[in-house]
Amino acid sequence: LPGVGPKSAQRLAFYLLQRDREGGKQLINVLQQAYEHIRHCDLCRNFTENTLCTICASPKRDPSILCVVENPTDVIAIEQTAHFHGHYYVLFGHLSPLDGIGPADIGLDILEARIAKQQYSEIILATNPTVQGDTTAHFIAEMAKPFQIKITRIARGIPMGGELEYVDGSTLARALSGRTELV
Ligand SMILES: [Zn+2]
Repeated sequence: LPGVGPKSAQRLAFYLLQRDREGGKQLINVLQQAYEHIRHCDLCRNFTENTLCTICASPKRDPSILCVVENPTDVIAIEQTAHFHGHYYVLFGHLSPLDGIGPADIGLDILEARIAKQQYSEIILATNPTVQGDTTAHFIAEMAKPFQIKITRIARGIPMGGELEYVDGSTLARALSGRTELV
Protein backbone atom coordinates (compact mmCIF):
# COMPACT_ATOMS: atom_id res chain seq x y z
CA LEU A 1 0.00 0.00 0.00
CA PRO A 2 1.21 3.56 -0.67
CA GLY A 3 3.26 4.94 2.20
CA VAL A 4 3.57 1.55 3.93
CA GLY A 5 6.83 -0.34 3.48
CA PRO A 6 7.21 -4.11 4.04
CA LYS A 7 8.43 -3.63 7.64
CA SER A 8 5.54 -1.35 8.63
CA ALA A 9 3.10 -3.74 6.96
CA GLN A 10 4.53 -6.63 8.95
CA ARG A 11 4.26 -4.64 12.17
CA LEU A 12 0.62 -3.73 11.46
CA ALA A 13 -0.29 -7.33 10.60
CA PHE A 14 1.36 -8.74 13.74
CA TYR A 15 -0.25 -6.06 15.88
CA LEU A 16 -3.72 -6.95 14.60
CA LEU A 17 -3.06 -10.68 15.01
CA GLN A 18 -1.54 -10.54 18.49
CA ARG A 19 -2.95 -7.51 20.24
CA ASP A 20 -6.14 -6.42 18.55
CA ARG A 21 -8.03 -9.28 16.97
CA GLU A 22 -11.35 -7.43 17.47
CA GLY A 23 -9.95 -4.41 15.69
CA GLY A 24 -8.81 -6.69 12.86
CA LYS A 25 -12.31 -8.12 12.49
CA GLN A 26 -13.76 -4.61 12.44
CA LEU A 27 -11.27 -3.67 9.71
CA ILE A 28 -12.38 -6.68 7.63
CA ASN A 29 -16.02 -5.63 7.99
CA VAL A 30 -15.36 -1.99 7.16
CA LEU A 31 -13.36 -2.94 4.07
CA GLN A 32 -16.05 -5.35 2.95
CA GLN A 33 -18.75 -2.69 3.40
CA ALA A 34 -16.63 -0.18 1.48
CA TYR A 35 -16.03 -2.57 -1.44
CA GLU A 36 -19.70 -3.47 -1.62
CA HIS A 37 -21.23 -0.01 -1.34
CA ILE A 38 -18.76 2.61 -2.52
CA ARG A 39 -18.92 3.52 -6.18
CA HIS A 40 -18.12 6.54 -8.37
CA CYS A 41 -20.41 9.58 -8.46
CA ASP A 42 -22.16 9.82 -11.85
CA LEU A 43 -21.16 13.48 -12.22
CA CYS A 44 -17.79 14.11 -10.58
CA ARG A 45 -16.39 10.54 -10.41
CA ASN A 46 -15.55 10.96 -6.70
CA PHE A 47 -16.28 8.09 -4.32
CA THR A 48 -19.82 7.89 -2.97
CA GLU A 49 -22.40 5.39 -1.77
CA ASN A 50 -25.12 6.90 -3.97
CA THR A 51 -25.60 7.76 -7.63
CA LEU A 52 -24.53 11.32 -6.83
CA CYS A 53 -22.11 12.40 -4.12
CA THR A 54 -23.22 14.86 -1.41
CA ILE A 55 -21.51 17.78 -3.20
CA CYS A 56 -23.08 17.12 -6.62
CA ALA A 57 -26.47 16.49 -4.99
CA SER A 58 -26.38 19.64 -2.84
CA PRO A 59 -28.64 22.53 -3.97
CA LYS A 60 -26.31 24.91 -2.13
CA ARG A 61 -23.43 24.36 -4.56
CA ASP A 62 -22.92 26.44 -7.72
CA PRO A 63 -23.01 24.02 -10.66
CA SER A 64 -21.63 26.65 -13.07
CA ILE A 65 -18.13 26.52 -11.57
CA LEU A 66 -16.12 23.35 -12.02
CA CYS A 67 -12.90 22.54 -10.23
CA VAL A 68 -10.80 19.76 -11.77
CA VAL A 69 -8.55 17.85 -9.36
CA GLU A 70 -6.35 14.77 -9.57
CA ASN A 71 -7.50 12.87 -6.47
CA PRO A 72 -10.37 12.57 -3.95
CA THR A 73 -7.94 13.78 -1.26
CA ASP A 74 -7.65 17.08 -3.19
CA VAL A 75 -11.44 17.51 -2.90
CA ILE A 76 -11.16 17.04 0.87
CA ALA A 77 -8.29 19.55 1.06
CA ILE A 78 -10.18 22.20 -0.94
CA GLU A 79 -13.41 21.57 0.99
CA GLN A 80 -11.52 22.20 4.22
CA THR A 81 -10.66 25.71 3.06
CA ALA A 82 -14.44 26.45 2.79
CA HIS A 83 -13.58 28.87 -0.04
CA PHE A 84 -15.00 26.93 -2.94
CA HIS A 85 -18.71 26.35 -3.53
CA GLY A 86 -18.81 24.92 -7.02
CA HIS A 87 -18.66 21.38 -8.35
CA TYR A 88 -15.66 19.09 -8.81
CA TYR A 89 -14.37 16.67 -11.38
CA VAL A 90 -11.95 14.03 -10.11
CA LEU A 91 -9.49 12.63 -12.63
CA PHE A 92 -8.01 9.88 -10.44
CA GLY A 93 -4.55 10.60 -11.81
CA HIS A 94 -2.88 12.72 -14.46
CA LEU A 95 -1.75 12.36 -18.05
CA SER A 96 1.43 10.33 -18.22
CA PRO A 97 2.19 9.10 -21.75
CA LEU A 98 5.33 7.28 -20.57
CA ASP A 99 3.20 5.14 -18.25
CA GLY A 100 0.58 4.68 -20.95
CA ILE A 101 -1.97 6.91 -19.21
CA GLY A 102 -3.91 8.81 -21.87
CA PRO A 103 -6.93 11.16 -21.81
CA ALA A 104 -9.57 8.40 -21.66
CA ASP A 105 -7.80 6.74 -18.69
CA ILE A 106 -8.45 9.81 -16.54
CA GLY A 107 -11.97 10.42 -17.84
CA LEU A 108 -11.20 13.40 -20.07
CA ASP A 109 -13.59 12.14 -22.75
CA ILE A 110 -16.42 12.22 -20.18
CA LEU A 111 -15.26 15.67 -19.01
CA GLU A 112 -15.32 17.01 -22.58
CA ALA A 113 -18.88 15.73 -23.03
CA ARG A 114 -19.85 17.39 -19.74
CA ILE A 115 -18.27 20.71 -20.75
CA ALA A 116 -20.19 20.59 -24.04
CA LYS A 117 -23.46 19.94 -22.22
CA GLN A 118 -23.20 22.05 -19.05
CA GLN A 119 -23.13 25.86 -19.19
CA TYR A 120 -20.00 26.44 -17.10
CA SER A 121 -18.98 30.00 -16.34
CA GLU A 122 -15.54 28.92 -15.14
CA ILE A 123 -13.36 25.83 -15.01
CA ILE A 124 -10.62 25.88 -12.38
CA LEU A 125 -7.72 23.57 -13.13
CA ALA A 126 -6.43 22.47 -9.71
CA THR A 127 -4.17 19.63 -10.80
CA ASN A 128 -0.88 19.37 -8.91
CA PRO A 129 1.95 21.82 -9.70
CA THR A 130 4.06 19.01 -11.21
CA VAL A 131 5.13 18.42 -14.82
CA GLN A 132 2.32 15.89 -15.28
CA GLY A 133 -0.20 18.09 -13.46
CA ASP A 134 0.71 21.05 -15.68
CA THR A 135 0.54 18.90 -18.82
CA THR A 136 -2.90 17.66 -17.78
CA ALA A 137 -4.09 21.22 -17.07
CA HIS A 138 -2.85 22.40 -20.49
CA PHE A 139 -4.55 19.50 -22.21
CA ILE A 140 -7.89 20.29 -20.53
CA ALA A 141 -7.50 24.02 -21.30
CA GLU A 142 -6.98 23.22 -25.01
CA MET A 143 -9.88 20.77 -24.93
CA ALA A 144 -12.22 23.38 -23.40
CA LYS A 145 -11.09 26.24 -25.69
CA PRO A 146 -13.81 25.79 -28.36
CA PHE A 147 -16.49 26.19 -25.68
CA GLN A 148 -15.31 29.72 -24.78
CA ILE A 149 -15.39 29.27 -21.02
CA LYS A 150 -13.16 31.11 -18.56
CA ILE A 151 -10.37 28.63 -17.77
CA THR A 152 -8.20 29.33 -14.74
CA ARG A 153 -5.25 27.56 -13.12
CA ILE A 154 -4.69 27.66 -9.35
CA ALA A 155 -1.82 29.96 -8.35
CA ARG A 156 1.40 28.56 -7.00
CA GLY A 157 4.08 30.26 -4.99
CA ILE A 158 5.25 30.98 -1.49
CA PRO A 159 3.60 29.06 1.36
CA MET A 160 1.96 31.07 4.14
CA GLY A 161 4.49 31.98 6.80
CA GLY A 162 7.31 31.05 4.43
CA GLU A 163 10.48 33.03 3.92
CA LEU A 164 11.70 33.93 0.45
CA GLU A 165 15.29 32.85 1.02
CA TYR A 166 14.22 29.26 1.71
CA VAL A 167 11.93 28.94 -1.31
CA ASP A 168 13.34 27.09 -4.32
CA GLY A 169 14.11 29.06 -7.48
CA SER A 170 11.37 27.68 -9.71
CA THR A 171 8.66 28.28 -7.08
CA LEU A 172 9.91 31.83 -6.58
CA ALA A 173 9.94 32.41 -10.35
CA ARG A 174 6.34 31.13 -10.58
CA ALA A 175 5.31 33.31 -7.65
CA LEU A 176 6.77 36.36 -9.41
CA SER A 177 5.07 35.62 -12.73
CA GLY A 178 1.78 34.93 -10.98
CA ARG A 179 1.85 38.13 -8.91
CA THR A 180 -1.44 39.98 -8.36
CA GLU A 181 -2.24 43.67 -7.93
CA LEU A 182 -2.65 44.81 -4.33
CA VAL A 183 -4.62 48.00 -4.89
ZN1 LIG B 1 -20.20 14.09 -7.38
